[in-house]
Amino acid sequence: VLLLDNIRKSFGSTQVLRGISFDIRPHEVVALLGPSGSGKSTLMKCVNLLEQVDDGQIWLGNTDITDPRANQDRIRARIGVVFQQFNLFPHMSVLKNVTLAAIKVHHWSRDRAESRALELLDRIGMRAKAGAYPDQLSGGQQQRVAIARALMTDPELLLLDEITSALDPMLVGEVLSMVAELKSQGTTILMATHEMSFAHDAADRVVLLRRGVIAENGTPREVMDESEDPETREFFAHFR
Ligand code: ATP
Ligand code: MG
Repeated sequence: VLLLDNIRKSFGSTQVLRGISFDIRPHEVVALLGPSGSGKSTLMKCVNLLEQVDDGQIWLGNTDITDPRANQDRIRARIGVVFQQFNLFPHMSVLKNVTLAAIKVHHWSRDRAESRALELLDRIGMRAKAGAYPDQLSGGQQQRVAIARALMTDPELLLLDEITSALDPMLVGEVLSMVAELKSQGTTILMATHEMSFAHDAADRVVLLRRGVIAENGTPREVMDESEDPETREFFAHFR
């Protein structure tokens, strides 16, 4: 689904990504882990074309999305994205939030967008909240709506960047169980997270970033339990 080939990205003189290569196969859930500042969000922004890579290529299926001639809107329709917070527009209803990009960016008819949105809201038990405003929802409900919105165009890949880290601990579980549900339906997911036990249980593979390079890439067990690298062991020891 996704192939990153030697991605480099600097901000000024700070080299954040120094040659990142890995791939994500269909239906795989890959957890992107690493200390704060290790470049997880930067990497995700490069995949979503919010940041331009300095060097290297990113392939989504057969499309080189780093090619400046690529159609950015069409690529974005193929990738769903949810961030840590501020995902929903506060002055718009849930339905409006979920349908907006499909209508404005992807030129869907209102009917098509609304029926797809209601189907997705129904699936997550939020159909009754279609007319509500974000501040009438819990943080967990807001994030579930944001995930529903990211699924509107039936993306090939879902990018989830720390989607539970701004939530009250009580609400983390409902969002993570939605992610587990998507996994069971075969959604391909790249998720940056600090929820180590969830990554351990739900991810098919763990990619650990450190100082701009990939320190580890393997199954949760290989990376989180069995790595012989002292820095890796120390990193995961913090979360036990
Ligand atoms: P966290 O776990 O805290 O979310 P992260 O792994 O997502 O961290 P990034 O947000 O990707 O880390 O940041 C990586 C580095 O790049 C940091 O040193 C950050 O200060 C720097 N950085 C990120 N975005 C920019 C920007 N737009 N301009 C300048 N520096 C930036
Ligand atoms: Mg981040």
